[in-house]
This record gives sequence, structure tokens and C-alpha cells, in this order.
Amino acid sequence: MKTENTKEIRADVLIIGAGMSGLAAGIRLAHFGKKVLLVDRHYSVGGLNGFYTIDGRGYDVGLHAMTNYVPAGTKNAPLTKLLRQLRIRYDELDLCPQRESAIHAFGNKLRFSNDFSLFESEIARAFPQEIDGFRKLDEFLKNFDETALDAKDSSARECVGEFLRSRELIDSLFIPLSFYGSSLPDDMALPQFAIMWRSIFREGFARPHIGVRQILRLLNKKFTEAGGIRKLRCGVKNIRIEGGRAAFAELDDGTRVFAEKILSSAGSTETMRLCSHKPADFGADNIGQLAFCETISVLDAVPEKDFGWNETIIFFNDAEKFNYRTPPGLIDPRSGVICIPNNYAWSDPSRAPQEGCLRVTCLANYTQWKNLRGNGEEAYAQAKALAYEKLLDVALSHLPATSEDKIRAKLVARDMFTPLTVERFTGKLGGAIYGATHKNRAGTTDVENLFLCGTDQGFLGITGAMLSGISMANLHGLT
Ligand SMILES: Cc1cc2nc3c(=O)[nH]c(=O)nc-3n(C[C@H](O)[C@H](O)[C@H](O)COP(=O)(O)OP(=O)(O)OC[C@H]3O[C@@H](n4cnc5c(N)ncnc54)[C@H](O)[C@@H]3O)c2cc1C
Repeated sequence: MKTENTKEIRADVLIIGAGMSGLAAGIRLAHFGKKVLLVDRHYSVGGLNGFYTIDGRGYDVGLHAMTNYVPAGTKNAPLTKLLRQLRIRYDELDLCPQRESAIHAFGNKLRFSNDFSLFESEIARAFPQEIDGFRKLDEFLKNFDETALDAKDSSARECVGEFLRSRELIDSLFIPLSFYGSSLPDDMALPQFAIMWRSIFREGFARPHIGVRQILRLLNKKFTEAGGIRKLRCGVKNIRIEGGRAAFAELDDGTRVFAEKILSSAGSTETMRLCSHKPADFGADNIGQLAFCETISVLDAVPEKDFGWNETIIFFNDAEKFNYRTPPGLIDPRSGVICIPNNYAWSDPSRAPQEGCLRVTCLANYTQWKNLRGNGEEAYAQAKALAYEKLLDVALSHLPATSEDKIRAKLVARDMFTPLTVERFTGKLGGAIYGATHKNRAGTTDVENLFLCGTDQGFLGITGAMLSGISMANLHGLT
């Protein structure tokens, strides 16, 4: 494969996007001797789950938790399957399991951990009349083939309503599953609900000691060792379609890439808009509608020891019902996620994070942020500062009482992203982290040799994106 100093590159497969799915697909294809070129417009790998540095301090873009945690050696689990396919040893991930998380909603606190029996006992305690239905729902989901590529997107709310009556319980179950993986307002596609049920409640959360860098370093290493070629800071500008096939892709620097196949993780509408046969406004009805804000507070403190905060993740809802849809204002602080990345069971405490961290996520309105930015940087910065304060207040109202002054005195750094940040760094239209409303599980497009992987193929999150990359590489890249 020709690379440096040439305006033409030939490869078996061009992969668009060096996020979790693109990297996993690249490893899989390179292992089977394919000449793979992986390009990303950003200057570093990881996409929605990368990392960055401000004032010498490292931040993970998006890592709260890696879902689908299972102990080493567990048979037939998504995590062990994906490690096998990528030829990664379990211990290389350096995972530490969560301690305990909770759902705070409707006056209840429902605790859960990586041991499903805790959650089951919490449901029996808070909703005794629903425990039989809950167990039947769990049994139904266990037998559901959630990864079938031809699975139908029926309503998860309708299905869950056949097992449970309490709207408060149903809403409570939807809070974590929606925030960690739904592109659909106020509902989920049933296969996605089943995937997230298993990922979060049945299996659970873990985190490598050094966060997402551990996963990305491993993926990068495996990819380059297998002979894959990476080109960063250079996106795909357009794809020339001739006779129903992608003839070549033109990169931002003018290089033409001639590849037998193209696998894109850029998003479904985003990818099709690169194609010469589609108008620039193609797919307007399938642009993701759900966007989020996240605040990150760095504390010169150990959250558990100094403040008594001992949960790993809290999913909360303070409204009368759970609204998972675009809010009318800039943010909707009535529901969201509070993550304290310090609260994992570190297998080596000497490598636990040195500083305290508090991350708070809530729904946000992309258009409102976009319009506000039109009013200038100052207005945007002011709105961000207000949103940050609001989300800090909300988080503190869900955490064990500690004087706010004490926490503020320990605050050493902060950052915040809006839907515009997500759009700018990943190209996701509308800043929609979970991508298009309607997924394309088969990953095919109307272009014979152009395929999708990642978020818009339909497997979400870190584990999901890697599984998507692997399954699309197996299905379309290795045949
Ligand atoms: C704040 C936040 C918190 C999150 N927390 C978690 C969590 O705790 N646990 C979890 O499991 N998941 C989490 N997620 C979700 C998870 O990060 C994503 O689902 C997953 O990383 C998606 O991977 P992907 O490969 O499908 O897409 P992406 O990561 O979006 O990768 C696509 C890549 O394509 C590149 N690209 C786009 N257009 C072009 C182009 N034209 N040319 C070249 N390159 C292009 C982008 O730059 C990007 O790098 C979080 C996400 C965010 C943003």
C-alpha cells in the first residue's frame, strides 16, 4: 500500500473513523491479511470516547463505565467474545469492577451492582407487587436474540408494559438504559432495550485503572501490529460513486483512496452525504434528535473519604415522569447521570485516580445551543457557566449532604461539553451521541461496496461499538 507523499492510495478496505468501531473493524480485517487504511478527521483516535489534555491534566471524553463487565473466563459473554475476536487478553484491559450504582427516582433509591441479585432484591423491596413480572421480563429478555441483524424495532415500552404495571418502575428501568444507549425519544427499540438490559443490569460496569486510554492504546497497538495503516487529521471529503459502486474516496488533503470496500463509522446520514450521488440535504428525517451536555469537575479530594460519596453511578429523575426527549430550553436538569469515576474497586489502589472527579450528564437542545452561539462566544460561555452551576447543584442534591462550600473549595478544574462540542469533534450531525433515530443493523447502503459500522449500525457504547466493528468487518469486509 502506498501512503506517504502520494496523492493516491490503494487498499483493500478504507475505514472512515478511528473510534471504537473503526479500530475494532480495522484489527479484525488486518488480522486476516487485508490492507486496511483507517482515516479520521480528528488528531487523535477514540472518537466519542477519546481523551484530551487541558493545562497538563488528562480527561476522558466520555468514559463513565465500560458496560458488559464479566469476570475473566466467562463463557458466551459479549466482552469475552469481542476480546477473542480482537486477540486481546482479558488482563490486558486492566478492568476494575464498579462498587455499586443506583437509580434515584420517584422517591425510591434502587441499588444495583454487577451482581444482578442485588437489583432483584431492591425491586422486590420497593415494588413487591411487581417482582413476579420483573422476573418474567428478565427471563423474556434472556431468551431474546437481541443481536440478530434482522431484529425488528418494535417498541420496548409496549413490551415492558406487558410484564409490569407500575409506570414509576417502568420509568425507573428506562432511565439508565436510555441515557446509556437510546437514540429514540421516550422509548427504545426492543432489541436495543434487550442489549442495554444485559449490558447494564445483568452484567454491569467496569473501568480500566487509567480509563479509556488503556482501551485505545490496546486497540491502536493491535491495529498497527497487524499491519493496519492510520491517517489522522485527514477526513474523507467525498466519495465518488460510479455505476452504483464507490470508485474512490477523496481525503481532505486531496489524496484519492481506491479501495475495494469502504466501511464507515461516521454515521448513516453523514456517510451518505459524502457520496457524489446524494444531495447535501439527504437523510434529514434520520438525523439523531437526542443531544446531551456533560460537566466534569476535578476535585482535590477523595470523594468517598472526604465527602462520603460512595456510589459509582447515579441515574436520577426529579420530574413527575421520565422525559427522554429534546428539552425546550438549553438543558433538562430534571434527569440525568452522575458519575464518580473514583468509585471503582481498584485491584491496585496505588494506581487509583489521584484526583477526585464528578461527571454530570443531562439532555440538551442542539438547536438552542446553536442559536445561542450565533449570538457570540460570550453568550455561549455564559450559558455554559450557568448550565455547569445548575448541574452541580442537581448532582449535590442527589449525593450525601456535604457543605457546598467544602466542595467548591476543593474544585481545581472544570470542563463542559455541549452538543456543539460533540458535533465539532466527531462530525455527528446535531451532536447526537447515539446517532440516527433509525438504525441499519445489516450495515448495507445503496452503494454496493459501502457499508456502515458503529453507532448507526445499531450497537452503541464502547463494547457495542467494538462489537459492531467486528461483526460488520466479518460480514462485509472478509467476504
Ligand atoms: C460524553 C459521552 C459519554 C459516554 N459515556 C459512555 C460510557 O460511559 N460507556 C460507554 O460504553 N459508552 C459511552 N459513550 C458512548 C460511546 O462513546 C460511543 O457509543 C462509541 O464510542 C461510539 O463509537 P463509534 O466508533 O460508533 O463512533 P465514533 O466514536 O463517533 O467514531 C466515529 C469517528 O469518525 C470520525 N469521522 C466522522 N466523519 C469523518 C469523515 N468524514 N472522515 C474521517 N473521519 C470522520 C470522527 O472523527 C470519529 O472519530 C459516551 C459518549 C459520550 C460522548
